[in-house]
Amino acid sequence: MTWDYAPAPESTAMVSIDNTYGLYIGGDFVDPASGEYVKTINPATEEVLSAIAQADATDVDRAVEAARAAFEPWSTLPAPDRAKYLFRIARVIQERSRELAVLETMNGGKPIRESRDIDVPLAAAHFFYYAGWADKLEYAFAGRRAEPLGVAAQVIPWNFPLLMLAWKIAPALAAGNTVVLKPAETTPLTALAFASVCDQAGIPPGVVNIITGAGETGAMLVRHPDVDKVAFTGSTEVGKDIQRAIAGSAKHLTLELGGKAANIVFADAALDQAVEGIVNGIFFNQGHVCCAGSRLLVQESAFEQVMAKLKRRLGTLRLGDPLDKNTDIGAINSRAQLDKINSLVETGVDEGAELYQASCDLPDRGFWFPPSVFTGVSQSHRIAQEEIFGPVLSVLTFRTPEEAVEKANNTPYGLSAGVWTEKGSLILWMADRLRAGVVWANTFNRFDPASAFGGYKESGFGREGGPQGLSAYLRLTGP
Ligand code: NAP
Ligand code: MG
Repeated sequence: MTWDYAPAPESTAMVSIDNTYGLYIGGDFVDPASGEYVKTINPATEEVLSAIAQADATDVDRAVEAARAAFEPWSTLPAPDRAKYLFRIARVIQERSRELAVLETMNGGKPIRESRDIDVPLAAAHFFYYAGWADKLEYAFAGRRAEPLGVAAQVIPWNFPLLMLAWKIAPALAAGNTVVLKPAETTPLTALAFASVCDQAGIPPGVVNIITGAGETGAMLVRHPDVDKVAFTGSTEVGKDIQRAIAGSAKHLTLELGGKAANIVFADAALDQAVEGIVNGIFFNQGHVCCAGSRLLVQESAFEQVMAKLKRRLGTLRLGDPLDKNTDIGAINSRAQLDKINSLVETGVDEGAELYQASCDLPDRGFWFPPSVFTGVSQSHRIAQEEIFGPVLSVLTFRTPEEAVEKANNTPYGLSAGVWTEKGSLILWMADRLRAGVVWANTFNRFDPASAFGGYKESGFGREGGPQGLSAYLRLTGP
């Protein structure tokens, strides 16, 4: 017999959500010029959490003006003082970590285990890390003069709301820039909570501005003539649109876009460990991960064994209430994303791939998709080429390392890859040939603020994390 888990829900008592939120401009929450608000919901229950201001052109102007006014004093502050502000933000995030994790889970649908153990600690780690660089710019770029760019416009997606905010804001502030950030329409709440973190940390007004709204707000923000730097994370389609829109201007640009990563398992790998890596690679955050290992490439001789282990493991994944500490798979972020996953999965079936789904009960309300694995996938299938951005794995096989490299690189993307083998020389051989910004060896989805992250090809350009992430917010001159 099997024993069921008792429910272990995290309390929501420490979270207080206002009925409406204005725009955080110049250190204050202000009403939007349009007077318009849009509801934000909990995707696991469809319960309305709050109503969020929609910033229009007037508000974008106001926010950029506030950031511009704050730039001179902020960029000329003695660097050790700027560092202190960043350390303070990091400490406040730690102090409020439980609240932020619960809020992230309520608004985005991800399991509390992940927001608590990954998103929030990593967000704090990014501020700690870049606080350390703020007064060491001349060491980071030896012999060169490093100056901030000015006002940074930052637009982020819904899959890691607080963490993407930290990836963007921490290096920008450390380098002496001021920012206007727009979170995704479906997940604004932790960015708005971050505004209060800034207040608590005593960040001077206008250094950080948070404006909410839909895609149009983002489009207006990145085009604003008084913006010096644009940093975008999101879809390749919107990334291209932004690149076109600001071509010919003096704006600096970094783009972190989509991916279709290969997770490559050789027959000599520690297979139980590899299966954990496969599961983490594609089911972490319901597969809403740009660097998700969404294509599994298994060496043919190990195919049967890996599939048997993988199916058994799928049967143990727990899908349900994201606030339950035992939950592995939470809710899909929005109805629109669920529709997109459903339609791509249908295409996979139509094109002749074989679909395996873990049997699990889906809750009645909210947006859900069971962990799914496609076999019999060929390289031309849409499910092998396009980003599904959901808990859906496409499995292909290979015989030789050359074939693995060829298949892994056969996509317009190039964000990440995984290699599983006992042979160190093979790992290095593969890493040299994989066109991916990050290659994980015998692990997957590992993140560290000191390690640069970013793409090749249609996955974008520029790096976040490490000194590379800092240089994206600096003008470097001299030899
Ligand atoms: P998206 O539509 O590109 O949205 C990303 C952000 O851009 C959101 O804040 C969005 O606002 C805003 N936006 C939409 N249209 C815009 C426009 N024309 N100009 C400026 N901003 C605009 O992407 P998504 O569907 O939310 O997110 C999923 C995608 O992001 C996936 O393709 C994934 O791979 C990618 N992603 C990449 C990384 C990375 O590090 N490389 C990380 C996470 C996600 P709204 O929310 O209101 O639409
Ligand atoms: Mg969108």
